[in-house]
Amino acid sequence: MELDAIVDLGKSESTQNLIRNFFLAEKYKKGTSKAPLEKVVHAAVIGAGVMGSGIAQWLSSRGVTVILRDIAREQVDRGLANIEKTYGDAVKRGLMTEEKAKAGRARIVASTAPMELRDVQFIIEAASEKFEVKKEIFRELGMQAGPKTIVATNTSALPVGRLADTTVSPEHVIGLHFFNPVSRMKLVEVVIAKQTSDETRDRSLGFVRQIGKLPVIVRDNPGFLVNRVLFPYLLDAAELFESGADAATIDNALVQWGMPMGPLRLIDEIGVDITIDIGNTLENAYGRRDHVSSVLLWLRDGQMRGRKAGAGFYKYEGKAQTPNESLAQWRRALHGEPEGAEGPNIPPDWHRDPRTLSGLNEEELAKRLILLMVNEAARCVEEKVVGSPEDADYGMILGTGFAPFRGGPLRFAEHFGLKKVVDELERLAQAEEKFSPCEILKKHAGDGTKFY
Ligand code: NAD
Repeated sequence: MELDAIVDLGKSESTQNLIRNFFLAEKYKKGTSKAPLEKVVHAAVIGAGVMGSGIAQWLSSRGVTVILRDIAREQVDRGLANIEKTYGDAVKRGLMTEEKAKAGRARIVASTAPMELRDVQFIIEAASEKFEVKKEIFRELGMQAGPKTIVATNTSALPVGRLADTTVSPEHVIGLHFFNPVSRMKLVEVVIAKQTSDETRDRSLGFVRQIGKLPVIVRDNPGFLVNRVLFPYLLDAAELFESGADAATIDNALVQWGMPMGPLRLIDEIGVDITIDIGNTLENAYGRRDHVSSVLLWLRDGQMRGRKAGAGFYKYEGKAQTPNESLAQWRRALHGEPEGAEGPNIPPDWHRDPRTLSGLNEEELAKRLILLMVNEAARCVEEKVVGSPEDADYGMILGTGFAPFRGGPLRFAEHFGLKKVVDELERLAQAEEKFSPCEILKKHAGDGTKFY
């Protein structure tokens, strides 16, 4: 019976996808470059916040000596405490010995004072997400860096090309977008600006592989790949909530579908404030499908910025997570049942019929949210943001935990049937234009062709 069962299992779509993921990981680990690898031994990280300290810790654990710089003393201290904690956890979990952790910590020199950077091979800027701040840093780094130093930015959404324009050697500028928490997330988006030279790209790919991360090359465009594909999904989940669907129902629908956590929980993890900032940038670039709905603004203004603030779509106490009742009150007031709500802020563009969206069952909820990701991932292929459908699929699996057994958004779409995907999107687009299928999906559906 086991023999029969395993033969059937082996043939299933899920098994095929998981096997394919394994071979993709091998491929992204090795890369295709034949050039001799440069061994990076000396790097600098600018900004000792969540990401800067995470990146410094990771590099040091991989044998790279790191200069970690910040403008604020207390941030340096906090960054060092973060690093200490990550090393401590790794030792506790048996991932490294105490000696290795000690040697790693000793490779980091942290300071608020400017330091000599000419011999550093890579500088990774991970300072605050403000163009003016980064511009000034890049201008200075351009003068301090050595003639071969690569200057990378970890920006989430700012155009890498605009930063490159502020330096004396724009060909040495690239985006290296790490994910949070750095010690757990394997993906690094390698963002190629127009000015980035081929040499800078190849050295950066080698560096990312040297430190044991998996690089996906993306073109410099708002949201790169992962945030661009993820945000229409996150923001629509917030709209669905606003229209009356329960947070737990929405999240559960997506967990059942195979996502590691639901979209509203994920917004709480990312931070409501950061979700709004990235959403605004994307809405400017892509319009309605990245619309930031009022529930997010209301949460932020009420200091409910997600998990870090103890409340967002849910309330957090220790490991416990419960529904955020004040949010439900706000929504009742929004829908004209004002009992007990505190100063609701009714959006001027309120036009939805809450009955249609709050009544969706879990399968419909999951389908509509996933199809938004499918459409955006297809656009990324269409617009050559990524070089192949594999890059889009694997990037989403690594960067967001997109249900690995589904094989990524495009692979899932093919299994579901591209004609059916387009029919569904067109049906949804009759009520909301943001669902209109992109050209490449319509072409495949019409011609009976595929991504793979
Ligand atoms: P953060 O606010 O925790 O840290 C930013 C740090 O930069 C602060 O310590 C600040 O003092 C320092 N800083 C500001 N100006 C500086 C200067 N001139 N020189 C040196 N240091 C300076 O922010 P973060 O979450 O670590 O994000 C850093 C970057 O990484 C941002 O561009 C962000 O968009 C990006 N990013 C963040 C995440 C995330 O999940 N937090 C994920 C990927 C990328």
